[in-house]
Amino acid sequence: MTLRGRLTAAFLAVVLGPVLLGAVFVGTTLAAVDRSRATERLGVAAATVRTSVDALCQQLRAAADAVALRTDAAARAVAAGQVVSRGLAAAVLVTDVTGVTTYTTPGAPPTPWQDCAGGRPVDGRVRVLSARVDLRDPAGSALGTVAAAHPVDPAFVTRLAAATGVAVTLLDGGATRFAHTTETSRVREAVLAAAGTVDGDKVTETADGRYVRRLDPAAGQPLPLVLSVPGERPTGLPAVLVGAVLLAALLAVLAAGRLARVTTRPLVELAGAVDRVARGDLTARVPVRSRDEIGRLAGAFNRMTRETASYVAALTSSRDQLRGHLAVLGDTLASTHDLQRILRVILHSAIGATGARAGAVLLLDPDGVLVGKCGEGLQDRLPDPETLRVPVGAGVAGAVAATGEPRRGRAGDGVPAPGEPRCETYVAVPFTVPGGPAGGAEPGREPAVGVLALYDRLGAEEFDDADLDTLRTFAGHAAVAVENVRVHEEAQRLSLTDPLTGLWNYRYLRESLRREVERASRFGRMLSILVLDLDRFKDVNDTHGHAAGDAVLAEFARRIRGEIREVDLAFRQGGEEFVVLLPETDARGAAIVAERLGAAVRGTPIAAAGHAGRRVAIPVTVSIGIAVYPDHASTGQQVLDAADEALYAAKAAGRDGHRVAGERAAPLTEEITVPAGAVSPDDGLPRAGPVTDRPAGRHGAGAPRPAAGVTQPATGGASSGPHPPRQSRGR
Ligand code: GH3
Ligand code: MG
Ligand code: MG
Repeated sequence: MTLRGRLTAAFLAVVLGPVLLGAVFVGTTLAAVDRSRATERLGVAAATVRTSVDALCQQLRAAADAVALRTDAAARAVAAGQVVSRGLAAAVLVTDVTGVTTYTTPGAPPTPWQDCAGGRPVDGRVRVLSARVDLRDPAGSALGTVAAAHPVDPAFVTRLAAATGVAVTLLDGGATRFAHTTETSRVREAVLAAAGTVDGDKVTETADGRYVRRLDPAAGQPLPLVLSVPGERPTGLPAVLVGAVLLAALLAVLAAGRLARVTTRPLVELAGAVDRVARGDLTARVPVRSRDEIGRLAGAFNRMTRETASYVAALTSSRDQLRGHLAVLGDTLASTHDLQRILRVILHSAIGATGARAGAVLLLDPDGVLVGKCGEGLQDRLPDPETLRVPVGAGVAGAVAATGEPRRGRAGDGVPAPGEPRCETYVAVPFTVPGGPAGGAEPGREPAVGVLALYDRLGAEEFDDADLDTLRTFAGHAAVAVENVRVHEEAQRLSLTDPLTGLWNYRYLRESLRREVERASRFGRMLSILVLDLDRFKDVNDTHGHAAGDAVLAEFARRIRGEIREVDLAFRQGGEEFVVLLPETDARGAAIVAERLGAAVRGTPIAAAGHAGRRVAIPVTVSIGIAVYPDHASTGQQVLDAADEALYAAKAAGRDGHRVAGERAAPLTEEITVPAGAVSPDDGLPRAGPVTDRPAGRHGAGAPRPAAGVTQPATGGASSGPHPPRQSRGR
């Protein structure tokens, strides 16, 4: 049942209950009063009947006495005539002692006459009422009786009714028949029927509202009578009462419905709005129609939804912001190993998530000083925002790095330290990576590699534990980023170096060549390339074994490193072939380096373990080709190819020497004759003979093919065989 239904029912019960009770009370009270009044009236009427009948009997007795006083019959006849004529009796009857009628007035009604003294009527019907006295002679002897009579006729009954004020019915030999009555014919039967059901002087009521009482014959009143009076209740009272109740019910229903609607409408609206809010619609509002409790409830509801909506909006925007930060962070972490950029994004996200005004990421450098790697909002907080250096142990960041414990609080008491950003409030957390550089951390704990610090929370409140937790998460990201970059650098280093010699590998050669050529081009400088190839190295392997060959290669690389500058780069191109890049070096300088390298190898045989572990000193020489950017070619690859060609020339010239690209070759002491029309095998390998005769396969049709000349006379005669097969690149 709805609230409105319950309220309506309650209102109806409250209103209709009393109305119904009142109606019943009025109805029963009126009925009781009416009955009581009717009973009283009937009682008075019965008394009046007795009195009237008694008075009549007295009168008749007096008349009979007046006749009986006469001593002779004639005088009695005269007296009887006078009594009748004066209306004291309707008839007079004289009997002798035997009961025989001796005189009767003319027109006397037939006997038997009902005696006033009582007794049942002879045939149940009373037609005449009489009083009888004894007739005596002067001596007192009984002579007979004198009776005076009065007829009990309709006029008598009418007079009785008039005297009593009630309707009078004279019964005739039973309860259901009547001799005379003043009742109207409409109610006559009902009155008689009611009189038949009642005993004694009880009062009963007919269906049409008459009250009926029987007055049975008794001493002094020998008439069987029924008295009745109409009820005095208003005839339409029940209908009026029912109508009143129905009208009250109708009005109550209308009033209850309206009242319930007025009362429950705001609640219904409120319930609807609450439903909408429960479904997620925070725009739901309810009208405030009054200042009562319901009005206050509606107002409070509206305020609550408004506040919640703005709260949700703030949360949503903060979530979106955070999502944006995380997306950027994720993208950055996934797509780059640019540590600087990653740390900047992490810092920015941490500032956004905690509502800080400024922040910095500091990394521990090898000297044990925290160095700011990136910062935000530090402009007015540091003398030089670009320089943020905090010794471990000093200020906030230094203490965090030293102890490995996060800190938060307000400035003051030596915080921040002189080199740190000025601030009111701060929070700082360390970040660690497994196996990172040792800081001031306790044993057993990973040393901090950096500190993420935020300054001055918006709203002037201190950073709380939730901020600390958030910051820990971001610090974790920073740690992962640092570690990733370190691992990446290590992997990159491993992928770019040659494990046997420790020199850069061919892949890095290509990268370095591109970079160095670009740099030389940009700054208008020269770049020399040396291509080195050990001479007759196959023989070393064949003679002393592969392991000895490896030892020779490693030692050779070490000697190269010992002969070049810091800025020079040495690569193992493959096999026993090496490359050295000499930035800002011309052909002359390169030739000097080549000479030095050749001497370093040639001068000291390389000691290695030969077959059966025997120590052997292996004499090694190297041939070197030199080319210079931009003198010999305009791209890195072309310069490398030119140096390769020069190496080829150096080999051809007898080995253990160097050649600069573009130098004219001295005539070879021994030429291999290539038959006219001979076709070079398509194996991509260099062939003996003048440079111009060699197949173009390795260089491509348009590649520059500088002629090469030996700067150092070929020793021991020129190469007698074909040039060694060239190492393939890309290993
Ligand atoms: P040339 O003077 O013409 O250069 O003669 P060469 O014997 O040095 O030339 P060739 O190209 O015929 O032989 C190169 C040899 O280098 C062949 C191979 O056995 C050897 N070699 C290549 N890589 C390695 C390596 O990693 N370790 C060892 N021990 N030997 C290698
Ligand atoms: Mg070789
Ligand atoms: Mg060789």
